[in-house]
Amino acid sequence: MGEASRQPISYSAKAYAASGAQTKLAPFSIPRRVPKPKDVQIQILYCGVCHSDVHQVRDEWQNVMPTVYPCVPGHEIVGRVVKTGTAVKKFKEGDIAAVGCMVGSCGVCANCLAGEEQFCDAVPTFTYNSEDKDLGGATYGGYSDSIVVNEAFALRVSEKLALAGAAPLLCAGITTYSPLRHWKVREGQKVGVVGLGGLGHMAVKFANAFGARVVLFTTSPDKTEDALRVGAHEVVLSKSASEMQKHLASFDFILDTVSAVHDVNAYLDLLKREGTLTLVGAPETPIPIGVFSLLFRRRQLAGSIIGGIRETQEMLDFCADHGITADVEVIRIQQINEAYERLLKGDVKYRFVIDTASLA
Ligand code: NAP
Ligand code: ZN
Repeated sequence: MGEASRQPISYSAKAYAASGAQTKLAPFSIPRRVPKPKDVQIQILYCGVCHSDVHQVRDEWQNVMPTVYPCVPGHEIVGRVVKTGTAVKKFKEGDIAAVGCMVGSCGVCANCLAGEEQFCDAVPTFTYNSEDKDLGGATYGGYSDSIVVNEAFALRVSEKLALAGAAPLLCAGITTYSPLRHWKVREGQKVGVVGLGGLGHMAVKFANAFGARVVLFTTSPDKTEDALRVGAHEVVLSKSASEMQKHLASFDFILDTVSAVHDVNAYLDLLKREGTLTLVGAPETPIPIGVFSLLFRRRQLAGSIIGGIRETQEMLDFCADHGITADVEVIRIQQINEAYERLLKGDVKYRFVIDTASLA
């Protein structure tokens, strides 16, 4: 056996994991690969808590993406580069770097070549709950103190941005920025955002920054003031039929960020001719669609998932230029189970972010 074969291929990192759909997250030790030539090793500083983490940990998407346990969630990662592989060009030790929902893709299919790795024909390697092609088992996410990724999937974060508030940009940010850009939301348009949660409050900020007139739909009357503060021009209580009626056939575009099954037909009716309702929320069961609402006025119903690496960098740079970050409540990792319960009750303004120093 040569010298090289005795080199360790992994090191141990601290994390929090769920061991089953019904169990709480608890301390857990995970392997991370020793950086390969194109890898960066990142000491994680902050990791946002996305509603997808809760869906995945509780195996609510079992028909589409069954959860592999133990599951270490977290895909809104910001940290500091502590080691670089010999061929790394984009980063040096000490740089701030970020990781979102993907850590790999095939790189050769038409979608990857178009910079839309989220649609990779071979399915991207997601930051957690994907096959770990290096160490075997599943990939582990950002509820940890360390991660190693190919530099192509690491993003640059401007030192201008507050790092805790920047972490949620890696999922909530890009997931809302990408469809607003794709459907060319701009000045002169009337744009709706459904739900003021982690994604929703970012959607309001971006739609406002793109110059649209922004209407926020909420089920929570007490969120009105916050919605106006983050950039909505008007707030509609979606449970009020009379308030909804006032907006019939008037929207160019609506982005629906709701995490639970709800009546999307009510929003289709609010689109004007050829307007688009795009779903980014991912409820666990199918939603019935009133087809006639689509037929009349040639309305469009669409979906969108995160965004490609190039666009994620564009979004981060846009945020640095416009001073945009998420509104966050920083927690210690020991508060994560309580945070999940609060998230499900809508009791967060508007994103929990884990200070991973609490893992020490
Ligand atoms: P969140 O912070 O919990 O926000 C969801 C919001 O939806 C809530 O704040 C609430 O807003 C509204 N809502 C919740 N339950 C509702 C119900 N029963 N009826 C009507 N409205 C309800 O969650 P998030 O982190 O923003 O994630 C939202 C969804 O997007 C999740 O399903 C998540 O998995 C998914 N997601 C998708 C992608 C993607 O790439 N497509 C990426 C990330 C997340 P109000 O109180 O204002 O009504
Ligand atoms: Zn997410």
